[in-house]
Amino acid sequence: MTAARDTNPSRIRPFDNSTLAQLPEYQRAAEALNYLVHAAYSTKTRMSQDQWLTAVRDLTAAIPFMDCCLDCGRATPPAALTKIDNSGWMQPTYKCHPCNNTWTCGWSTAAPNHL
Ligand SMILES: [Zn+2]
Repeated sequence: MTAARDTNPSRIRPFDNSTLAQLPEYQRAAEALNYLVHAAYSTKTRMSQDQWLTAVRDLTAAIPFMDCCLDCGRATPPAALTKIDNSGWMQPTYKCHPCNNTWTCGWSTAAPNHL
């Protein structure tokens, strides 16, 4: 398994997102992620390809659990999720960058389910 990873450090694998890629939002999501990785580099945030892919995977998995900032109303993705208890309850931490507000909110891992 390690040998296979060594021959493909990009971790890219064959995929077909052609259905999603028809949506203009697909292109915008890719552009936003491109801005994110360049912003990370510009702030000297160093991460491996595996760390980057884990962060993006966690972000996308948390999208259904976005919350609105009580100060400005902006929809905000979870910034961190440090635990999920055995009953399927989680408590993500949020940070709204425009107003610097931070908060936590409890969610069932089963809800909201947008997919
Ligand atoms: Zn806010």
